[in-house]
Amino acid sequence: MTEHMGAAGGAGGGRWVPGDRILWRYRDNASPRIHICRPVTVVQDTDELLAVWMAPGTECVKPVLVDGTSVHEEPLETRYTKARRTTTSRWFGTGVLKLARPGEPWSVWLFWEPGWRFKNWYINLEEPRARWVGGVDSQDHFLDIAVAPDRRWMWLDEDEFAQARRVGLVGERQAEGVREAGLAAVRTVEAWGAPFADGWEDWRPDPHWGVPDLPDDWDRTPAHMTT
Ligand SMILES: [Mg+2]
Repeated sequence: MTEHMGAAGGAGGGRWVPGDRILWRYRDNASPRIHICRPVTVVQDTDELLAVWMAPGTECVKPVLVDGTSVHEEPLETRYTKARRTTTSRWFGTGVLKLARPGEPWSVWLFWEPGWRFKNWYINLEEPRARWVGGVDSQDHFLDIAVAPDRRWMWLDEDEFAQARRVGLVGERQAEGVREAGLAAVRTVEAWGAPFADGWEDWRPDPHWGVPDLPDDWDRTPAHMTT
């Protein structure tokens, strides 16, 4: 699938075109290793917005504890200190549309119920994504925000954010920055700015796109990173 891997991609300022297949990845919070990798299809790539589609059934990489326990089944107290490894699994349920404005420390994900009934937006606070020829890399910042169709919002995963601070995965200064980023995101929700007002909940994927494969070298180190 290398011919699909964004030959015109990020490094050097090129753009991906709709239908290109790239990798949406997150580094582990305790090491430079990639621990989440999601093959996605490019919907739009402009100065204003990178939009990608993660199709149902996509084989993704995710972290688990060494014994295979899911991260979320592990009690909070030990969730971030027990040794981990990565595993692959298929994305269950409906697909996810991910929207990210270059340089912004969050991305906005759209979820639907089966039958395309819009469920909610989800603001994932994260390091601004670094583009490379095969996709984008970031690091998750634990704290998230859910936004309902009626525009009400709520913080999510405050317990995980607090625990990550407790165990030193997020420093106090960084934590302040993450909270500030969250408040900035909330201001765009309350002003009903982009991307919430842009009608993305009515967007649908090109039926010809299919499901991108997870490449064997999903954890490769980009030769040329640009920000
Ligand atoms: Mg998150």
